[in-house]
Amino acid sequence: MTEIQTYAAIVVGGGAVGLSAARELGRRGIHTLVLEAGPLFHDHASSAGTERHSRVQYSQEDLSRLALETAAEWDRLESESGRRLRHRVGSLWFGDVDVDTNEGQITSAARVMDKLDIPYEWLTAREITDRFGFRDLPADYAGFLQPDGGIVDVKATLLALYELSIRSGVHVTPNAPVRSIEPETDTVRVVTDSGTYRTSSLVVAAGPATARLLRPFGVDMDYRVFEMANLSFVPSNGRVELPFWFAFQQPTERDTNLFYGFGPRPWATDSACRVAPMFEIDEITAETVPTLRPKAYDVDRVHDWVRTHMPMLEARAVSATTCLAVLPRDPARQFYFGPVTAPGAGTARIATFAAGWGFKFVPILGRVLADWACTGKTDVDVQRLSVS
Ligand SMILES: Cc1cc2nc3c(=O)[nH]c(=O)nc-3n(C[C@H](O)[C@H](O)[C@H](O)COP(=O)(O)OP(=O)(O)OC[C@H]3O[C@@H](n4cnc5c(N)ncnc54)[C@H](O)[C@@H]3O)c2cc1C
Repeated sequence: MTEIQTYAAIVVGGGAVGLSAARELGRRGIHTLVLEAGPLFHDHASSAGTERHSRVQYSQEDLSRLALETAAEWDRLESESGRRLRHRVGSLWFGDVDVDTNEGQITSAARVMDKLDIPYEWLTAREITDRFGFRDLPADYAGFLQPDGGIVDVKATLLALYELSIRSGVHVTPNAPVRSIEPETDTVRVVTDSGTYRTSSLVVAAGPATARLLRPFGVDMDYRVFEMANLSFVPSNGRVELPFWFAFQQPTERDTNLFYGFGPRPWATDSACRVAPMFEIDEITAETVPTLRPKAYDVDRVHDWVRTHMPMLEARAVSATTCLAVLPRDPARQFYFGPVTAPGAGTARIATFAAGWGFKFVPILGRVLADWACTGKTDVDVQRLSVS
């Protein structure tokens, strides 16, 4: 029988969140192992692609506060890694100001910004058209530009977290899918094809596989998985300057009718701009392997949006990719993120991040997961997002 190796902490999943937890455990001097099912930095999961939106405006005050608190963690990550990770190009929300979406609502987000003294500039449809070059927006559309939001560089963030983890002695093992996690009295056993490991401090950030892996502990999470499309367009006339933008619209019969996008990535040499639909339709099962090919329906809808409203871009996309989104079925909860306190956990300390639009929070998610895995407690106010 092969020997069981013991680690002070084990992290299952080497995406952005798992690596962030590993970096935090490593910097606290904790002997940590990361087990990642695929190769490092692969594009078949949620931390795929090149950029993410970072913002401080939320319709929920606690999430706005958390986003403000995360800014200091991004600063720390940038300074420790010596890498530039965020670019404050601004975050532009516009459209029907009262429509409720998974992203939030323009009116209530403005109310929260007023309460927390977060600066923003209110804009009419006319001002949005004149200033940013959108076309044919309904006259009653409005919105705001929040200057602190912008773009996060995904690959640089993954590299920063990986390098800092390795530097602090964390063992990162790619191509090691965890088959099961078994409860013991005060520890857990983590089983892979090439070895079995034991720990009393476990972090599970395995995207769609998280609920299955934690089922033996009595954890119940109700999330859905979607393969979301991203399309890249080149400017129609030289260079385009755009903040991150999100268009809030009334849903159609078939989809949410929500679109968002980025201007050229400040760190890239090309000038491609990304446009994507935020349609939560055609749910896939948690263990389905992504096709990496966007659905024709999504591609057509994005082309329609660009043709109608974005004359600054060529009408045909130059490339298209996908990314796995894992989202709680109940849009009001936004995240599954918490310590696992179910009876099956015994005295082992288990923490998980399973679902939600989480990239903008990556550094603080890692810190809090490490807090829970080490002590079972955190001083960050995230109780509402907990798993049951
Ligand atoms: C199209 C799209 C746009 C998004 N836009 C934004 C945005 O603008 N702003 C924002 O904040 N967030 C955004 N998000 C969400 C954000 O990207 C995710 O919340 C974040 O990347 C989640 O990281 P993660 O590490 O939890 O998951 P993942 O990156 O999915 O990592 C999980 C890892 O676990 C591994 N794994 C799975 N099963 C096992 C197993 N059995 N054993 C070992 N390892 C396993 C996987 O291979 C994977 O590498 C977006 C997501 C998508 C899809």
